[in-house]
Amino acid sequence: METFDIIIIGGGPIGLNCALEAQKNKLSYLIIEKGTIVNSLYNYPLYMRFFSTAEKLEIDGIPFISTAPKPGRQEALEYYQGIARQRDLNINLYEKVEKVSRENNLFEIETTKGQYSAKNVIISTGFYDIPNLMNIPGENLAKVKHYYTEPYPYAKQKIVVVGSSNSAVDAALETYRKGAEVTMIIRHSEISKSVKYWVKPDIENRISEGSITAHFNSQLIEIKEKKVIFKNEYGEIQEIENDFVLAMTGYLPDFDFLRNSGIELQGECLNPLYNSETMETNIPGLYLAGVVCGGKDTHLWFIENSRIHSEIILKHILSK
Ligand SMILES: Cc1cc2nc3c(=O)[nH]c(=O)nc-3n(C[C@H](O)[C@H](O)[C@H](O)COP(=O)(O)OP(=O)(O)OC[C@H]3O[C@@H](n4cnc5c(N)ncnc54)[C@H](O)[C@@H]3O)c2cc1C
Repeated sequence: METFDIIIIGGGPIGLNCALEAQKNKLSYLIIEKGTIVNSLYNYPLYMRFFSTAEKLEIDGIPFISTAPKPGRQEALEYYQGIARQRDLNINLYEKVEKVSRENNLFEIETTKGQYSAKNVIISTGFYDIPNLMNIPGENLAKVKHYYTEPYPYAKQKIVVVGSSNSAVDAALETYRKGAEVTMIIRHSEISKSVKYWVKPDIENRISEGSITAHFNSQLIEIKEKKVIFKNEYGEIQEIENDFVLAMTGYLPDFDFLRNSGIELQGECLNPLYNSETMETNIPGLYLAGVVCGGKDTHLWFIENSRIHSEIILKHILSK
């Protein structure tokens, strides 16, 4: 079995960036990705627009040419997949890493397709695979979606959108504009401050003119086939007719995977333990990169501020 200098788990933008850095430094590496290249982006809403401008999404200084200031999903797929193709990155696709263990200073990596050995491992598995569940009765019904793709299935349907962050607001506006009757159920007292600055006035105006109904300080408590039940801001139980629930309640990193790899998780946000100067975890030779670093705080890291991780990690590996 070949022993790689580095195995990178996850072929998202940051995993690719780590591979480019390894390639530049002539280290042997393999990316193992459980889906397609930049699988999270592939699963984003079809018509989403990044909040970052194109140059902030660039990796390794490779120009990201976009026709609009903020690129959309398809342009980002073209950009990142194009890099993997052009730079001939060593990547195994549709192969999930199930276990990482360390024996005699080497890592053993078990996947759905085989076993690998590496001197160093970088975990860059992101947070988009596990929805942050509401844990309420009826959440498992087929009409409840934790991923929103496009508005067309919801035309002339009664939609409840749960949440008030970017994903919730985009889903509410898009479905409203394709003829859905949209009700937002929002735990907080206002639309999230992190909503894209050019979108926030749009949702606030649709709510104030009554085109979209919003229940603030409210919580969904049960979902049934034809209705939903929620607690409103006065503490009263309210019931409305409903066809679909778009539960835009966020996503979480795979904490079991991190734990089983030996990484310590700390505090309320289950922050994985790592040295911010090297990105090395409490296991020597095991590194973290990208948005997985934030634990439950998935707003802490994004492409723009985590693309630096690859350089930090490679510098540390080369210094050993
Ligand atoms: C809708 C949306 C919009 C966003 N907009 C922006 C933006 O405008 N600007 C910005 O900077 N950030 C944005 N982000 C946040 C962040 O940039 C993205 O989450 C980005 O994809 C993070 O890159 P990453 O490489 O760390 O993780 P990811 O892109 O999530 O990559 C992780 C990869 O690991 C794979 N994987 C997971 N587990 C395993 C396993 N066990 N074995 C093998 N492979 C595995 C996944 O399939 C995935 O491809 C957005 C996020 C979302 C959800």
